[in-house]
Amino acid sequence: MAALRDFFTEDDRKAITSAIKEAESRTSGEIRVRVEAKAGEDPMQTVRNAFEALGMRNTELHNGVMFFVGMEDRKFVILGDDGIDEKVPENFWDSVRDAVIGHFREGRFARGLTEGVRMAGEQLAAFFPHQRDDVDELPNAISFADEEGV
Ligand code: CA
Ligand code: CA
Repeated sequence: MAALRDFFTEDDRKAITSAIKEAESRTSGEIRVRVEAKAGEDPMQTVRNAFEALGMRNTELHNGVMFFVGMEDRKFVILGDDGIDEKVPENFWDSVRDAVIGHFREGRFARGLTEGVRMAGEQLAAFFPHQRDDVDELPNAISFADEEGV
């Protein structure tokens, strides 16, 4: 199959990276977009594996968030680290997920991701405000499984 990055134009990729940078200017939460070919039989396990492999458990406040896209099996999963789960209501990600999936159904992948990232940044800001000495703990560029080695 084609390289995963080719599902997105260069402008798409830039827009997604910019959306993450912008969102992270409002919150100490760290958002990463991960693209794999398939989420597989057990999507949650696939997402957890990627989360760990990319070192996303290592943020200081345990407030990393993964936006996982399985391109071939059309799966979208949001996984937040434990620091987020401890603070936010149970349905915290529902509106973000619904918005992203709504765009995906119409084939608007980049739009769905930029919109979802923007919403996630706004929602996280209430629980994890941006800090003056903020460090960009996780890369803002999309992680493509076929390039990353993990
Ligand atoms: Ca940061
Ligand atoms: Ca970041």
